[in-house]
Amino acid sequence: MADDPFENMLAQMDRAEEYADVDHGVFERLKHPERTLKVTLPVELESGEVEVFEGYRCQFDSARGPFKGGVRFHPSVSQREVEALAGWMTWKTALVDLPYGGAKGGVICEPKELTDRDLERLTRRYTEGIRRMIGPEVDVPAPDMNTNPQTMAWMMDTYSMYEGYSVPQVVTGKPLEIGGTPGRVEATGRGVSLVTERLFEYLDRDLTDATIAIQGFGNVGSNAARLLDESGANVVATSDVSGAAYDPDGLDVAALGAHVDAGGLIEEYVAGDLRGSAGEGDSRWDDPDAITNAELLTLDVDVLIPAAVEGVITADNVDDLRASAIVEAANGPTTVAADKALTERDIQVVPDILANAGGVIVSYLEWVQNAQEFSWPLETVNAELERRIGTAFDETIEQYDTEGLPDLRTAAYTLALERTAKAHEYRGLFP
Ligand code: NAD
Repeated sequence: MADDPFENMLAQMDRAEEYADVDHGVFERLKHPERTLKVTLPVELESGEVEVFEGYRCQFDSARGPFKGGVRFHPSVSQREVEALAGWMTWKTALVDLPYGGAKGGVICEPKELTDRDLERLTRRYTEGIRRMIGPEVDVPAPDMNTNPQTMAWMMDTYSMYEGYSVPQVVTGKPLEIGGTPGRVEATGRGVSLVTERLFEYLDRDLTDATIAIQGFGNVGSNAARLLDESGANVVATSDVSGAAYDPDGLDVAALGAHVDAGGLIEEYVAGDLRGSAGEGDSRWDDPDAITNAELLTLDVDVLIPAAVEGVITADNVDDLRASAIVEAANGPTTVAADKALTERDIQVVPDILANAGGVIVSYLEWVQNAQEFSWPLETVNAELERRIGTAFDETIEQYDTEGLPDLRTAAYTLALERTAKAHEYRGLFP
């Protein structure tokens, strides 16, 4: 069952239960989502054909506050995946101490095969499908894989049309012009970069010139790459779904970013097709080698950052991994079997619920600004992000060091489970 993300999440909880101060009855309650809505979405595509899509919204737990979690458009979306991701959101918001519960949504689709008009119609139809269960004080969606500020704008507009007035606070990750916050787009990558720096401080190692491989060069991977590159680390490999680029001396992260921003694939970048002028004629940068995503994971680097999909570090490849630390930017990239092997090998893993929490932290800051009808400058947002993710990092390390826990994930889970369980205990059982 290692490939089932929900089983993986339950196994992570079970690993932490032994150490967490949580009543067993409450713990059992925490293993079940509050509710999941499945919606059927018939959409007339630009081609004139009608395609019937399937979508979900899972509300996992709301003991600590309104539900919060992204919406993913991807062919591999399933009810089990959405429920696992909603559970991880619950533990993440508790770990970084936001007044939220956890939720997640998804639509089974291949966005690459849809036009912008198709995506708009699909997003609006999905929003209509779930609109009775979302709302600024109920459940607040945000972007995730293959969704972005434009998607959030369509969701906000559709919800607002039904309400009869503008409700920016119903989603976060919006464009600035309609209530978004500065710093949201790069927030998850910034958080990944910050925790990587904190990990190196904790390990008493120098991040300058440390080698880093990043799987996935989307929103999270590309921003993490850029910020780590700026902080002096050496990003030697990165990838997208088409393949990976590797240069042991370091990649030209800025040129890669420009290439991907212009719609290019990494495979084309490595082949030299469409490579932008940023790298051309600049003798500092060699041509990178083409490697596979599987090879990227086993490179001999200081830090491996999975920033694409879940379940990529498994029992099958864990023995081949050579990175000395892993920072989980993606949700659920490591299966439980692989996790145990990494703990035995003393490889530090900064767990997803901490490493990628920058996005939900800045989503919270956007939601607060919307409620205040006030906007903060980027410096305030970034300082608050750094303070909050830094505190969560310190608390996780303290739990790990003082409670003698086997790994950072168990430390993070014990904190998150204890906080969520306490909220349930105070609130009691209804009726
Ligand atoms: P994205 O769609 O912007 O980018 C995903 C990247 O992964 C792309 O480069 C894509 O080509 C690559 N990819 C997709 N499938 C792949 C595969 N099978 N093998 C290798 N590469 C593959 O998505 P994102 O927003 O950057 O999210 C990446 C991960 O981070 C996801 O696990 C997501 O849940 C998690 N996350 C995102 C946010 C956020 O704010 N965007 C917040 C927290 C966690």
